[in-house]
Amino acid sequence: MQGERYVGGLWCREVLENLCDYVDDELDDELRRTMESHLRGCDVCERFGGEYAATVGQLRTALSSSPPLAEELQERLRQRLRVAQLGDSDS
Ligand SMILES: [Zn+2]
Repeated sequence: MQGERYVGGLWCREVLENLCDYVDDELDDELRRTMESHLRGCDVCERFGGEYAATVGQLRTALSSSPPLAEELQERLRQRLRVAQLGDSDS
């Protein structure tokens, strides 16, 4: 991906690859913190996100206001990701 950034120890691509597991709370603490520091410090993954862009945007907003992620927001993000994945099922 052209123009992606290396922030907080991860590339945008890696953040997007781990996004589903992050939202499902399946990452270990270290990777989760790394993801969060990337999302706080990077505003370009939102552009690379494609179907995930809205999710990334909401995560960034949530992280900059009141961590940890509220349960209600987490559930909304899960649903959004499910919808995004349905549109991408043949890959
Ligand atoms: Zn990024």
